[in-house]
Amino acid sequence: MDNQKRVFTFGNGHAEGRADMRNLLGGKGANLAEMNLIGIPVPPGFTITTEVCNEYYEIGREKVIALLSDEINKSLRLIEENTGMKFGDPEKPLLLSVRSGARASMPGMMDTILNLGLNDEVVEGLARKTNNPRFAYDAYRRFVQMYGDVVLELKPASKEEIDPFEAIIDQVKKEKGVKLDNELETEDLKRLVTLFKAAIIEHTGKRFPDDPMEQLWGAICAVFGSWMNERAILYRKMEGIPQEWGTAVTVMAMVFGNMGANSATGVCFSRDAATGEDIFNGEWLVNAQGEDVVAGIRTPQQITLEGSRRWAELQGFSEEERREKFPSMEEAMPEIYKELDALQTKLENHYRDMQDMEFTVQEGKLWFLQTRNGKRTGAAMVKIAMDLLQQGMIDEKTAIKRCEPLKLDELLHPVFNKKSLQEAKELTRGLPASPGAACGQIVFFADEAVKWHKDGHKVILVRIETSPEDLAGMAEAEGILTARGGMTSHAAVVARGMGKCCVSGAGAINVDYKKRIVEIDGLILKEGDYISLNGTNGSVYKGKIATQAAELSGDFAALMDLCAKYTRLKVRTNADTPQDAEVARRFGAVGIGLCRTEHMFFDNEKIVAMREMILADDIEGRRKALNKLLPYQKEDFKAIFKTMDGCPVNVRLLDPPLHEFVPHDKKGQAIMAEEMGVTPEYIKQRVDSLYEHNPMLGLRGCRLGNTYPEITQMQTRAILTAACELKKEGFDPHPEIMVPLIGILYEFEAQEKVIRQEAAAIFAEQGVEVEFKIGTMIEIPRAALTSNRIATRAEYFSFGTNDLTQMTFGYSRDDIATFLPIYLEKKILKVDPFQVLDRAGVGQLIQMSVEKGRSVRPSLKCGICGEHGGEPSSVHFCHEVGLDYVSCSPFRVPIARLAAAQAAVEE
Ligand code: PEP
Ligand code: MG
Repeated sequence: MDNQKRVFTFGNGHAEGRADMRNLLGGKGANLAEMNLIGIPVPPGFTITTEVCNEYYEIGREKVIALLSDEINKSLRLIEENTGMKFGDPEKPLLLSVRSGARASMPGMMDTILNLGLNDEVVEGLARKTNNPRFAYDAYRRFVQMYGDVVLELKPASKEEIDPFEAIIDQVKKEKGVKLDNELETEDLKRLVTLFKAAIIEHTGKRFPDDPMEQLWGAICAVFGSWMNERAILYRKMEGIPQEWGTAVTVMAMVFGNMGANSATGVCFSRDAATGEDIFNGEWLVNAQGEDVVAGIRTPQQITLEGSRRWAELQGFSEEERREKFPSMEEAMPEIYKELDALQTKLENHYRDMQDMEFTVQEGKLWFLQTRNGKRTGAAMVKIAMDLLQQGMIDEKTAIKRCEPLKLDELLHPVFNKKSLQEAKELTRGLPASPGAACGQIVFFADEAVKWHKDGHKVILVRIETSPEDLAGMAEAEGILTARGGMTSHAAVVARGMGKCCVSGAGAINVDYKKRIVEIDGLILKEGDYISLNGTNGSVYKGKIATQAAELSGDFAALMDLCAKYTRLKVRTNADTPQDAEVARRFGAVGIGLCRTEHMFFDNEKIVAMREMILADDIEGRRKALNKLLPYQKEDFKAIFKTMDGCPVNVRLLDPPLHEFVPHDKKGQAIMAEEMGVTPEYIKQRVDSLYEHNPMLGLRGCRLGNTYPEITQMQTRAILTAACELKKEGFDPHPEIMVPLIGILYEFEAQEKVIRQEAAAIFAEQGVEVEFKIGTMIEIPRAALTSNRIATRAEYFSFGTNDLTQMTFGYSRDDIATFLPIYLEKKILKVDPFQVLDRAGVGQLIQMSVEKGRSVRPSLKCGICGEHGGEPSSVHFCHEVGLDYVSCSPFRVPIARLAAAQAAVEE
């Protein structure tokens, strides 16, 4: 036997683990240990490490059980000592919960089993000891149900069917003539246990185990097994969580929230997870077990009085109704509420972050079952970080680090247009579970959401309630609407994590999965009908509502200002229209890092002249066509320079292969022939002559300008004439002219000569000079390798990491989809190198190029303009190798700004 410690115990104010051991104990295990250490009441238990999860997959179930056996037995004895109970003993029945807990929180993705340790004898003992047979049998039927589902895997036969256990419960309730679970009596619950066990044998061929130790091993292994279930794998993929991390398993003494009127259970947050407001909030249920709150079977009540009043208003209940039927915990259990409030504050102060907590009250005693840094929306993330900073709980650098760059994206999403909203028909209201505006076509099943989305539809997933199986569909939907479930329901928590609009618990909607309809107040909506959701106030509307750009909050601006204070790396944008430039400037871009001029040629008149130029037989024909293009280009540049007045605008000369501009189909060629006054055959022959085997390695980039210098002349003329005219009008343009796809110094020199000659002519004509720079893109490995030569002439470098990645790996950027999924699955590649910059190869070339370039030109400005410029880890790299700026698409500018600041503060 080896000496490795695989099990860490906690209880009664002692713990073998700590908060900073989350890699080994998972978030839940580490925090349960920590809570013990800081005096929060937690039932005793133990955590099996995440390393054991990997062992489970390497050596298999039996060997893992053998390895764990001694430690688990000892740890069980410790729980027995701490509680004075005994596992499997009917006289002193100790029941356990078995829960998963990975390093990063994966809410609801893996399995949990409660009330473990019950069998026909122990349940009788529990009934005697608690003097509460109904409670004992309710716990037993829940256990058999959970064990049957999770360990013995009895699942519904099809997606339209309800859970087989729920079907049995419905049947028994019907026979009894009652509506709610808690109206069932002891004898009914006993019957449920018998029916459940029979259903398990009938459908799975497996027997429910009576031996508590066998139950325990079954549950532990099922939790390890759930690490590799489909939804957990999908969730990890979405969140970038590595498979090797594994899950820990925490086994803890049960405490019961369903022991009567002075017992309860709930979930609470130290701040609002949707908006970030500093308001303690949460939901609870009296006489219930934890899963009742999140599963949405009963309507959960609000913990605070204020929250309860807000909720009642949204739901349309009078104050009397609210107080009578749905009182807050603050009113119903004032003493325990006070303790809960004090402890949640203690936890938030301890972790210095918003906490998401689970608790249970057993016969008047409060226990915490979990705490973690709460998942939150992008807006809440920013607000909480800035509030904690203001409250002196964290410092500026921590505030910057607390925000996840990619989550900023959510704040930039559109909201409903106010005018359209006034005209829209509100159908009903649910809970504002996750903010934002969404409209789309109704679908009722997760797999349909995926399918419809793939076919190009925008969909709203409408469910009675969601479960972890619905994850893929939720990810593809614009928004989620549920009939049941509160602010802490599965739908709400997951949607907030995804930054997706969600309205939950809209009680007035009746979903019929079989007919694929939803009825709202007499109105029937079918699959495919449009609805709109406002996740910020819970409204549900008929039809489509127009959206508009979001207004950014003061906290967002404050965070961006904070970023600016620490950042070294500047952020520019890739933009080729004044509209995009305008958006980027609003988000704080300090220049344009790449203006792709080819995008300007696709307008109607421009494309005709462009095609004329491409298909011309000789230089005269090309010049004629270029002269038609010149005024258009000049006006386009003027508009962009104006928008970016005072900031550098880096304009790239024509780059793509020319065949991209001409029609390849018969119909298109016929239209073009008519426009140009030639025969379709002529067009076809000219188009065919442009054919290349490898166009991305063919006549493109500076090879175009070197083959047809008149194109470079025209573009230089357009850029610099625009700048001169603006200067005369009092503007302050800063043009930069960039030569693409250089591999050899002479390619650059030849283009530079053309540009300088043209510039001299323009300045003479205009009677004014504008300062400008001539630089190059570094996107061919040879250019990176010979940067000390290229920098003798080029005034700046911009790394085109799309092409540089293509040519370093030898992967066609247009064809990588043919093998990328297989490479990722086989782990030949960890990530798509076109998304995340490859530091080892492409990164090395960049670093070398910067060093070599600056060795001959110390002032050489270096930036990046490939897609990587807006990807946080790539931005980090750019900071590390001393680039001056990154350039990315306008909506990525805030993301890059935050990532750049994080790189600086983490240095
Ligand atoms: C690049 O190659 O990274 C680049 C920015 O240019 P394009 O994507 O236009 O080829
Ligand atoms: Mg390129």
